[in-house]
Amino acid sequence: MSTTQTMTPSSDALGTSAAQARSAVLEELILKDPGRFRILTGDRPTGRLHLGHYFGTLHNRVRLQNLGVELFVIIPDYQVLTDRDVADNLTEHVEELVLDYLAIGIDPARSTIFTHSAVPALNQLMLPFLSLVSVSELNRNPTVKDEIAHSRQSSVNGLMFTYPVHQAADILSCKANLVPVGQDQLPHLELTRTVARRFNDRYGNGTTVFPQPEALLSKAPLLLGTDGTKMSKSRGNAIALAADADETARLIRGAKTDAERHITYDPATRPEVSSLVLLAALCQNRPPQEVAEEIGPAGAAALKRTVTEAVNEYLAPIRARRAEYAQDRAHLRQTLREGNERTRAVADATLAEVRTAMNSHY
Ligand code: ATP
Ligand code: MG
Repeated sequence: MSTTQTMTPSSDALGTSAAQARSAVLEELILKDPGRFRILTGDRPTGRLHLGHYFGTLHNRVRLQNLGVELFVIIPDYQVLTDRDVADNLTEHVEELVLDYLAIGIDPARSTIFTHSAVPALNQLMLPFLSLVSVSELNRNPTVKDEIAHSRQSSVNGLMFTYPVHQAADILSCKANLVPVGQDQLPHLELTRTVARRFNDRYGNGTTVFPQPEALLSKAPLLLGTDGTKMSKSRGNAIALAADADETARLIRGAKTDAERHITYDPATRPEVSSLVLLAALCQNRPPQEVAEEIGPAGAAALKRTVTEAVNEYLAPIRARRAEYAQDRAHLRQTLREGNERTRAVADATLAEVRTAMNSHY
């Protein structure tokens, strides 16, 4: 079994391992012809990006950008309101995301970073797309169910309920065919594929208006946080890319492990310990089994020391670049303005095609 397959909780193991196998095939296709692919992916502006984002999707974005794949990164600001009433500190969160992107190596000269609210065509795609999905399909989406369980609201709002359809509009607005994501996004992506297929069938008149985008999973499709559940900005269990070395050490020291002293890599039965092992392994670019064997009888304290050192060493150059970019807020805003403009042109062209296909281009 591959390391990544075993990081998956049983509920969605089959879907994830299929996506994993397909990802391996996609990797080969990308290497052969990177120009065939266009990526859209993004992160909610709800806080600083963390190691789960990094190893789940960000690292892949930069790697693929550098291979020559066209990359669109969306900051879905409206989607903040799926699980809370007000988007607190929105401008600050958006700028923090842009800082993280620049620091990890997303290059605005080659890639496009934009905010959802600045691209009106994207919202206009929502209505026809909503007509293509049933309420029961929305009701059974496991990621929406999970997010509702962690929501700060007492009732589910319409934006949360239709979350996967906004994502379909995000992805299809620029006709992306590749989406590097974490495991939690697989059900959403499946719905995007359904929307694309149904649109083509219903309105395409024999042509393919939309591609059916594919998920690209990394070696860490579900990195766990310090409490042993999915590392998440909103759950207070994350190690931020921008944290300093001491904060990182403190957080890792407090991470949940288990009662067994001997360190092994066994994600199915020891998820917390294995996620820490995997984190060190990813930072040191070596197999997790090797990291676990090396620590073995030294126990959890030694494991945590190894992870802390590995993370701090890996992130040091990223953190240094981040501090430099943070000096120039005007540059961050300019990056967004340019990205928004570029995306508006692409999304407007898609919307024009949709209106023609739907006979509503008057
Ligand atoms: P929030 O708590 O506000 O929902 P989040 O931490 O879940 O934030 P998102 O913005 O929802 O982050 O996710 C952005 C991208 O990062 C998605 O592709 C998601 O799959 C991926 N991702 C987020 N957390 C993890 C994780 N722990 N492991 C792997 N991938 C992750
Ligand atoms: Mg999330």
